[in-house]
Amino acid sequence: MANHEGIGTLKLECPQMHPVGKILKEAPHHQISYDPGAQVGPRRFWPDEDDQPQFKTRCRQCDKPVGEATTALQDKFRDLVLNASEISEIATLPFV
Ligand SMILES: [Zn+2]
Repeated sequence: MANHEGIGTLKLECPQMHPVGKILKEAPHHQISYDPGAQVGPRRFWPDEDDQPQFKTRCRQCDKPVGEATTALQDKFRDLVLNASEISEIATLPFV
């Protein structure tokens, strides 16, 4: 079995369970990045200055903005990468 320690994917969803991107780290030495989805835009470093203090994005299906405190997402992501038995988890971002 592969050693997943230090990597993980936090899948982000709107309250209607539509995917709105993901926060991921593919290798232990990689930086955390945000992937908004192939149709939306390129991956980028996360969290950026614009992501503080709240990370916001938009659900294209609901056509509404969603967001969450960046520190809360960072905590959740850190717990995920420290938990070697789980490599992916879902975080629901409330409408803002
Ligand atoms: Zn939605």
